[in-house]
Amino acid sequence: MLLAEQYSGEQRRNAIVGGGFAGVATAWHLLAHASSPVSVHLFDGAGIAGGASGAAAGLLHPYSPKGKVLWNGLEAMNAALELLQVATAFQDRAHPELEPISWAQSFLRPAANAKQAQDFSRTQSMIETSQQAHRQLAGSTDGARMCVDSSSNSNGSAESSSREAVSVRALSLEEAAQRVPGLPSEQLNAALGPELAASAALLIEGGHVIHPTRYLRALWGACEELAMQRGVTADLHTTNVSSIAQLQHEHGPFCGTVVAAGAAAGILPEIGDKLPCDLCQGYTLDMAPNSDSASATEHLTLGSAEKSTAGLSLLGSTYLATQGPENIVVGATKRHQLTPHEALAECGRQVSDSSERASATSALMPRAEKAWPSIASWRVAGVRTGVRALPPRDQHGSLPLAGRVAGEQNVWVVGGLGARGLVYHAWLGSLMARAVLGDNEAVLPKQLRRWQA
Ligand SMILES: Cc1cc2nc3c(=O)[nH]c(=O)nc-3n(C[C@H](O)[C@H](O)[C@H](O)COP(=O)(O)OP(=O)(O)OC[C@H]3O[C@@H](n4cnc5c(N)ncnc54)[C@H](O)[C@@H]3O)c2cc1C
Repeated sequence: MLLAEQYSGEQRRNAIVGGGFAGVATAWHLLAHASSPVSVHLFDGAGIAGGASGAAAGLLHPYSPKGKVLWNGLEAMNAALELLQVATAFQDRAHPELEPISWAQSFLRPAANAKQAQDFSRTQSMIETSQQAHRQLAGSTDGARMCVDSSSNSNGSAESSSREAVSVRALSLEEAAQRVPGLPSEQLNAALGPELAASAALLIEGGHVIHPTRYLRALWGACEELAMQRGVTADLHTTNVSSIAQLQHEHGPFCGTVVAAGAAAGILPEIGDKLPCDLCQGYTLDMAPNSDSASATEHLTLGSAEKSTAGLSLLGSTYLATQGPENIVVGATKRHQLTPHEALAECGRQVSDSSERASATSALMPRAEKAWPSIASWRVAGVRTGVRALPPRDQHGSLPLAGRVAGEQNVWVVGGLGARGLVYHAWLGSLMARAVLGDNEAVLPKQLRRWQA
């Protein structure tokens, strides 16, 4: 008999530690995919999106800096778009007064050096993602109906029948300058030379920029709604968990427990140093246009004022993520080798100290101005902090980590999402839910379980 089947009624409860991208995605898939409904208890002392997810700039696309599709990037991107659609449809229906969750987006990555421009010149790939999800997110009007359709599916997920391409290609210096007025093309030209001008930048089309907090709150709202429809509960407990043993002692047995505590996972004694991640703190700046008229016209050049038109963001070691015409997120700094306790202290922390804000600004703004000089006329409206859990690289890249925790009964961990939480979270959440519900670790690809060796 499967472990899950030993529990019945109220006992078919699952615990998730962590309300970031990984935890909320797992919650959705547990609720949506259980053949007989299960409840979810989500524990997070900092609330939904209190960790790295809340600090993310929101860049969502499936490509490496060289323009190659990431390991399982197609599947992961499709899964992310479907969850984005679930969250967007929920918000459109339940809270249409709220600000947008995401923006359709093209990404331009100017070559950082001649080697990168050579890599770009070899790029010619194309992947497909769900056309329905794209249409929906691009602003079509039947959002509420789509969600009703999708939540009435037996597995609760959105159907995606027809398909549309997300693409990447090299751009010449001239084309790049046309797309981004104000791009410092003379410097680029000087750095690359005329022979590499044909591949001076990479253009990714069909991506999105997400507002992470709005997205996760809406996705959690969709979880609560789905739980209600299925006659179970989705409860958020805003408390920190000190150990899995203590959690079970205080709340009774859980059918399955998923640790999705990001960079702070190691504070739980059951996890400790099992996940070999470098914990790397970073700041993002939320930029708003200055109110004077000169900058008001200038600020429209990178993003797009039109809701239906894809905006444009710049990628690079310092990036500018466009969240509509009124917000550009500049990221990100890197401070390596924090401890899990230091990572936990960053969760839910507001960056309000003026000297800390000034130091984050002075670390990022000179590099942002080098990438796009017009940003100098914007002001810093907010500073966010978060800690990434960077997994070790292998031949496939920096892949996340997931699996069963040895010696514990149906305790699982998902982490090491690194700098790619958005593209991987929904796919990981779906895999974790299947593993927990079926008590079957084999559904997790072995590359995700390499930390167990
Ligand atoms: C500055 C910055 C910019 C980024 N930009 C992007 C981007 O543009 N695109 C992208 O794809 N990725 C980006 N990332 C990476 C992305 O944010 C992470 O990959 C992702 O957030 C990890 O999600 P997670 O759910 O694993 O962890 P988290 O989001 O950190 O969630 C873990 C949660 O667990 C909670 N928690 C921890 N310990 C406990 C405990 N003991 N008890 C209860 N709760 C606990 C925390 O409060 C937290 O809410 C960025 C990261 C940073 C830091």
